[in-house]
Amino acid sequence: FLSGKRALITGSTSGIGLAIARSLRAEGAEVVLSGFGDDAVIAALCEELGAIHVAADLSQRAGVEALMAGAGPVDILVNNAGMQHVAPVEEFPVEKWDTIIALNLTAAFDACRLAIPHMKAAGWGRIINTASAHSLTASPFKAAYVSAKHGLAGLTKTLALELATHNITANCISPGYVWTPLVENQIPDTMAARGLSREQVINDVLLQRQPTKKFVQPGDVGEMAVFLCRDAAANITGTNISMDGGWTAE
Ligand code: NAD
Repeated sequence: FLSGKRALITGSTSGIGLAIARSLRAEGAEVVLSGFGDDAVIAALCEELGAIHVAADLSQRAGVEALMAGAGPVDILVNNAGMQHVAPVEEFPVEKWDTIIALNLTAAFDACRLAIPHMKAAGWGRIINTASAHSLTASPFKAAYVSAKHGLAGLTKTLALELATHNITANCISPGYVWTPLVENQIPDTMAARGLSREQVINDVLLQRQPTKKFVQPGDVGEMAVFLCRDAAANITGTNISMDGGWTAE
């Protein structure tokens, strides 16, 4: 049902973004990939998805502008690229703060700013922002990430109101822990650092706050993105859809 629609997914060379790209492609959307990675891996993904890839560092405004110019007009914009840094506020490296705010929040603002004119002209659009359980609740030592994700939720509500009469919706999907390489690769280090078994790290550290004790699967987030593109979702706008195994219900 998405044939004829072009979808740009930021941070789609890995993890959640790649899963969203695959789900949108499966429904017929033309896909534009963005993100870092090995050239051969990116070429293989482009072939798999019949996609183009636009290389850009989205922690820089010029990078977002280059991405939007390279992507061309997009009907579906998924702001998904993000990064994390963990440190107490008084020790938080100020350049890490700046980069996280730039990538996780400002890049979404700039991409929306540049994508909306085409969506308005086309009379249809979908903006989907990968936020986080940390757009609704906090954890210690994640000041920049929590601030950026709360900001992204606020941006999304504002977009929804501004675009409400244009047949353009804006929503957040807010996962808890998702089983991505990013999370999986933390397990051996955490086992060593804390002297725990793999199972203890998964259940007592990673899934401590996720009541279902199950990871969200990237493909589940992809399915939610597809649903938000359906006509049935035309009145879902300005929401923050939790996929967190009950984390934010506590
Ligand atoms: P990931 O590390 O697997 O993927 C991140 C993607 O962003 C990659 O494609 C990477 O190349 C790209 N990227 C990173 N820095 C970039 C930059 N400066 N410019 C352009 N692209 C850049 O991460 P993921 O787990 O798939 O996370 C994707 C999104 O989901 C992030 O916004 C993250 O905050 C959010 N999220 C993840 C989880 C989780 O448990 N994995 C939970 C909640 C929210």
